[in-house]
Amino acid sequence: MTHPGTQPSLDLAALIETVQRNERASKSFQDVELRLIGAHDWSAFLEGIFVYLPEVFRLASSGIWLDARTPLLRDLLEAGCPRADLEANLRSGLQGGLALSRLCAGNQPWLGLVSEMSDLEPAVSETFFGARAAQTATGSAIVLPLLNRTHVLGYLCLASDDPARFDASMGTDLLMRFSSVAAASLDNVAHREHLRKTGVTDPLTGLSNRRYFDERLHHEIRRASSHAAPMSCLFIDIDHFKQINDTHGHATGDLALGAIGTCLKQQVRVGDTVSRYGGEEFVALLMCELPDALAVAERIRHAVEALDVLDDEGERIALSVSIGVAAYQMNALAASPEVLARSLLDEADQAMYRAKHQGRNRVSLLEA
Ligand code: GH3
Ligand code: MG
Ligand code: MG
Repeated sequence: MTHPGTQPSLDLAALIETVQRNERASKSFQDVELRLIGAHDWSAFLEGIFVYLPEVFRLASSGIWLDARTPLLRDLLEAGCPRADLEANLRSGLQGGLALSRLCAGNQPWLGLVSEMSDLEPAVSETFFGARAAQTATGSAIVLPLLNRTHVLGYLCLASDDPARFDASMGTDLLMRFSSVAAASLDNVAHREHLRKTGVTDPLTGLSNRRYFDERLHHEIRRASSHAAPMSCLFIDIDHFKQINDTHGHATGDLALGAIGTCLKQQVRVGDTVSRYGGEEFVALLMCELPDALAVAERIRHAVEALDVLDDEGERIALSVSIGVAAYQMNALAASPEVLARSLLDEADQAMYRAKHQGRNRVSLLEA
C-alpha cells in the first residue's frame, strides 16, 4: 500500500534526479562542443567525435555519415580517416543517406532500440553497425542530423549497449543544440582543409605545387631512409612550349598544360606524387627503383605524345616532353634529408637537360 504522504517527496526526488542528470548531460555536451569548436583540422574533429564523445558519454560507439554530394565534404571523405582503427566509423554512400533522411524525417533526431532501427530502416543500421552486428545488436541509439543552418551535412549515430539508455521520450533540446554546434564545426573544418589544400594546389593543372613537392620530398626521404627504401624522381619539361604559346596563343598553351597535368597524374600510382614545379615543368616522386621509374617515364612520354589537344581551328597540336630520371636507394647512413633531396632533384633536372640536348621527346639518365 502506498502511504499518501510519501508521494510528493518521491516525485521531488525524481525531479531533482532528472534535473541533475540533465545538468550533467549539458556539461558533458559543452565539453565535447568546446572540443569540436576548437578542432582546427579534420583529424582533430574526428578525434572529438570518435574518441572524446564516446568517452565522455560512456558510449559503445559513435559513427558519422557524410553527404559526399557536398563538394567540401567529398574532399574530407577522400582524405579518409586519419586513424585506421576508426575508419569504419566514417560512412558515406547514397543508399544509407536516403534511409537516414527517412528515419530522421523533418530533420528530427531519432532515438530507440537498434533492433527497431533495423526494422524501420535496415540501411541505416547497416551503415553504422554493419549487416551482421545490426541484426544481433541489443542496445539503443540516437541518430542526429548534422544541420548547418538549413543544410544537412550528415548524420551522427551514438550507440549504447544499454537498451534503456536512449528512447523516444527523452528531451531533444540538448541534442539539437549539440547537432548545430557539431555541424558548424564540421563546416568550419571543411573550409579550413579546403584552404590548406588550395594553398598547395596549382589552379591551372589541379596538381600540387612546388611548395608541397619540396615538403613531401623531405618527408618521404626521411621515411624511406629509415628502411633503406628506393625512391626515384622524374623531371619533366614540355618541349618547345614557347613555340606552342607563340603559334596558338596563351589560352591554348594553358589548355595543353592542363591536359598534360591530368595525363601525368593518371600515369603514376596513387601513393606517388606529381607536382607542377614551375611554368612548363613537372616533377614526380615515385617509390620505386630505377627500372620501374624508367618504365613510368616512358609511359608518360608516350601518353603525352598521344594526347589530343586541339587549337582554335580544331587542329591537333603535337605535344611532347623530355624527362630526366634519377633514382636513389635511401640509406640511413647517407647525407641529411635536405642534401639528399637537393641532389636527387638536381640529378633529375640535369638528366632532363641531357634529354633536351639529345633531341627532346625522350627519357634520359645523367650517366651514359
Ligand atoms: P624547351 O624544349 O627547351 O623546353 O623549350 P621551351 O620553349 O619549352 O622552353 P622555354 O623555357 O624557352 O619556354 C617555356 C615557356 O613556357 C615560356 C612561357 O611563356 C611558357 N609558360 C610558362 N608558364 C606558362 C603558363 O602558365 N601558361 C602558358 N600558356 N605558358 C606558360
Ligand atoms: Mg623549362
Ligand atoms: Mg620546355
